[in-house]
Amino acid sequence: MPDANTTSRYAVLGQPVAHSKSPLIHARFAAQAHQSLRYEAIEVAPADLATALAAFHAEGWQGFNLTLPHKTAAMALCKTHSEAAERAGAVNTLIRTEEGWHGDNTDGTGLVRDLTRNLGVTIKGKRIAVLGAGGAARGILAPLLAEIPRELVISNRNPWKPEDIAAALKPLGNIVPRTHLSLKGDRFDLIINATSAGHHGEIPRLPPALFATGAVAYDLNYGKAAEPFLGWARAQGASIVSDGLGMLVEQAAEAFRLWRGINPDTAAVVAELRQG
Ligand code: NDP
Repeated sequence: MPDANTTSRYAVLGQPVAHSKSPLIHARFAAQAHQSLRYEAIEVAPADLATALAAFHAEGWQGFNLTLPHKTAAMALCKTHSEAAERAGAVNTLIRTEEGWHGDNTDGTGLVRDLTRNLGVTIKGKRIAVLGAGGAARGILAPLLAEIPRELVISNRNPWKPEDIAAALKPLGNIVPRTHLSLKGDRFDLIINATSAGHHGEIPRLPPALFATGAVAYDLNYGKAAEPFLGWARAQGASIVSDGLGMLVEQAAEAFRLWRGINPDTAAVVAELRQG
């Protein structure tokens, strides 16, 4: 674990990355915990990622967060991986080791903490649908299965991806691949939008009446990108709706714990981000 008094360097790498809230989140965590660190947002093109990570390691940087489009490509650039990263096939957190980068994935832990601790949502015994089969969906499925839902359905616009993902995760619990339209007639206690459709002002094409009584709608996106799905969910009768801002802060908190061995207080940071 790095020395709390020696300034350590961290960053989020992405393209684009200027919009990232991670520098603010980690600055607040560091201040709370009296940790001496610098955290920046650095734009890196996909073609430059391998060279950049090798150079950062040689310069002594302690860790990175990865955002679009690097999460999957960075898998091959890590010396070692956590089980979470291997299951997700994607890394969002890099931790320095002397031999190279250790890749982890904190998205699923972040989501489950936001749902269960911050929103008071019970996963155990519930019927859950995850929409989308990209890197984010892959990262959240195993942690959701660990909470023992009655059934975890994964559905996607491209119908083949859920089949492959569900086959790989079958040993972990009751996971069922579906298409969006085949959900017609089903009812879910929790529907999680893990698609990027909201960035284009869209929602996945879904049949109506999917929410059971008292159901929760959760969108991994936040800000404007969460509005289409959460608006649709409200109109469809979801009782609780939430965007993914809490998940963003919780996945960052888990990365901070991996780097610094300290669990930050997330509530104040979520509240500050909500105020804009
Ligand atoms: P990917 O690009 O890997 O996957 C995108 C997914 O969205 C695919 O399943 C794709 O379906 C689906 N999709 C895209 N457009 C549409 C559409 N118009 N209709 C239906 N489905 C669509 O992205 P990620 O998985 O990495 O990220 C998904 C979202 O989650 C992003 O918006 C990201 O910002 C957010 N996110 C939030 C986090 C947080 O901390 N709050 C953490 C990680 C991600 P298909 O396979 O058919 O193309």
